[in-house]
Amino acid sequence: MSGPDPLDPATLEQAGTGALAAFAAARSLPELAVTRTEHLGDRSPVALARRAIAGLPGPQKAEAGKRVHALAQSSQAAYEARKVELERQRDERVLAEEAVDVTVLPERPDGARHPLTTISERVADVFVAMGWELAEGPEVEHEWFNFDALNFGGDHPAREMQDTLFVEPAGSGLVLRTHTSPVQVRSMLDRELPVHVVCPGRVYRADALDATHSPVFAQVEGLCVDEGITMAHLRGTLDHLATAVFGEGLRTRIRPNYFPFTEPSAELDLQCFACRGASAGSGAEPCRVCASEGWIEWGGCGMVHPAVLVACGIDPERYSGFAFGMGLERTLMFRHGIESIRDFYEGDSRFTLSLRSEA
Ligand SMILES: [Zn+2]
Repeated sequence: MSGPDPLDPATLEQAGTGALAAFAAARSLPELAVTRTEHLGDRSPVALARRAIAGLPGPQKAEAGKRVHALAQSSQAAYEARKVELERQRDERVLAEEAVDVTVLPERPDGARHPLTTISERVADVFVAMGWELAEGPEVEHEWFNFDALNFGGDHPAREMQDTLFVEPAGSGLVLRTHTSPVQVRSMLDRELPVHVVCPGRVYRADALDATHSPVFAQVEGLCVDEGITMAHLRGTLDHLATAVFGEGLRTRIRPNYFPFTEPSAELDLQCFACRGASAGSGAEPCRVCASEGWIEWGGCGMVHPAVLVACGIDPERYSGFAFGMGLERTLMFRHGIESIRDFYEGDSRFTLSLRSEA
């Protein structure tokens, strides 16, 4: 017989000790699997011993069988015990690594009211404090209120000028209001004279979204109709508004312009609040806010056209009025150096938060 006898008691005992030590030393489940093949697999000492039993004379089989069975059982038990232990360690590790602490607060900033809401209310407050009323109207408006009553003729090019969004079906007579002026018309029709209303709200034009245009934007308009109203009242009111929104000491300027609903009509400029006009023509430090013009275009204004008063049932021989309007995004863009109107419509709370205390 060549080689060691697989059934030799010392050999079996050594195999058993080796298996127990190897299983105990396995540090991971894959390592344990390799160790198992070595000590319990087809070519392991136990397997060799089992096969050798078949060649023994009958009387010796039982005793050898017992010894081999004991070895197999103790090795198998050691393997199972180590496997349970390694699985427990693995599960603990996975739980620790994948744990979610549901008590940790998320890092999410507070919300804030939208700056357009805040500025609308601030402007409205300025006028309400002077005894004016806040007026609102529908955003889907009849053409008569949006155009006809405001002295836009049926084929008036100004209808096209304002890039109107018409509401389907064609001929419905409905538009998305292109300005807040129809609220002025409704106010004159609904209220007793004199009328003093401030009208903030969303308006719509068929403009593509870019840094300075948006198909939806916010306006505020004001209207005053009474006996003896002149452009001097308009100037005084605009100066008061400029101070309330931009601070003390800024001048306003009006330049002739054309609108169908006012006569005379004027463009409203505001002294640049950044350089206070110092950059204009002085060759001094250039001003980014006003492009060194010294003034910024803020809105439009004028005396209410007599045809508008007539359309609203008001006698232009007895009453006169002034009206003005400006974009609120533009106002905030000047005030805070905001470079793109898109910031107002992208819903990024960081933008809203950055203007929270200032709008
Ligand atoms: Zn400037």
